[in-house]
Amino acid sequence: MLFSFPLPEFFGSSYLCTMRVTEHFQRAEGKTLISFEVIPPLKGSMQAIFNTLDALMEFKPPFIDVTYHREEYLYKKRPSGYYEKASIRKRPGTVGICAAVMHRYGVDAVPHLICGGFSREETENALIDLNFLGINNVLALRGDARQFEDKFTAEENGHKYALELVKQIADMNAGKYLDANITGGDTTDFCIGVAGYPEKHFEAPNLASDLHFTKEKVKAGADYIVTQMFFDNQKYFEYVDACRAAGIKVPIVPGLKPLTKKYQLNSIPRKFFINMPEDLVSAIVKAKDDEAVNQIGIEWAIAQSKELKARGVPCLHYYTMGENETIKKIVSAVL
Ligand code: FAD
Repeated sequence: MLFSFPLPEFFGSSYLCTMRVTEHFQRAEGKTLISFEVIPPLKGSMQAIFNTLDALMEFKPPFIDVTYHREEYLYKKRPSGYYEKASIRKRPGTVGICAAVMHRYGVDAVPHLICGGFSREETENALIDLNFLGINNVLALRGDARQFEDKFTAEENGHKYALELVKQIADMNAGKYLDANITGGDTTDFCIGVAGYPEKHFEAPNLASDLHFTKEKVKAGADYIVTQMFFDNQKYFEYVDACRAAGIKVPIVPGLKPLTKKYQLNSIPRKFFINMPEDLVSAIVKAKDDEAVNQIGIEWAIAQSKELKARGVPCLHYYTMGENETIKKIVSAVL
């Protein structure tokens, strides 16, 4: 299904979207593409996303990922002294941002869709909305535990693992909806991406187990994998080799994030369960301020990107996290 969106003058020629992410890889014929991930802003301002992407569009990313954030619980103290549990969505708007990105820039958008907080019916409805909007790409994820919860819990009648979500999307691609009475429903054409972990997902007992379930996601219909960030390319190369040995043949896109602040030396491993190479750690420790850290982070990410590109990865996928100037310096040096 192809939709033509009007483009702002700035981008000149018209662009037909949507194309499947894997089609972009095929059309690139071995050339390494550049793509970006953005995070919905805290409620109120879409401008932050546009500022980030306006600065990065010169690199002609064929697609932009937009993350999804589950609701969180807050405990508010009432005048009586008791605490009230309130559920809030701090960063809503993933689908709206995807539509806005496609409309403004004429590039494909990849909404992240998570299991957490969704029943199967709600997932189906979200997918129907995406299909109606002409969004044919989705990154299917489980999501993490809510803040203050020690493990992930699925919604009642929701999915426990990304694998089940992939199966639901693949079913819709085959015209199968939850209500078995619906026959002849629209067949969707979602290109399905899933997450992969070069340093293993933190809950997996070992890499082999994690790879087993990643392979199940691919068997169920996942078309490509995007990795968790890593700072040691060797981990990525070994992961790709392990995937291939396990029979996982789909494209594996490396996810990259530059270090920009000293505190990330501890916060990133704590949050993403990854290791940092000793050379990088000692350079950051010696850096006199965050400006120096930023420079080291840029140089490290450039070196990583150049090596990955030289090894022919399908795409370099940057987690922008509002750091558009930093990302711009990196990509400029890599292209
Ligand atoms: P799964 O594939 O379901 O795996 C979770 C764990 O369960 C793994 O240890 C796996 O080995 C194991 N497992 C899988 N299937 C089974 C099974 N059938 N039986 C037993 N064990 C199983 N989170 C968000 O909330 N929003 C986002 O936008 C977001 N974007 C991300 C983008 C990328 C590229 C990556 C790498 C992660 C992203 N995350 C996001 C984080 C992700 O939701 C977490 O890492 C989460 O803990 C796992 O998600 P998953 O899809 O890999 O889960």
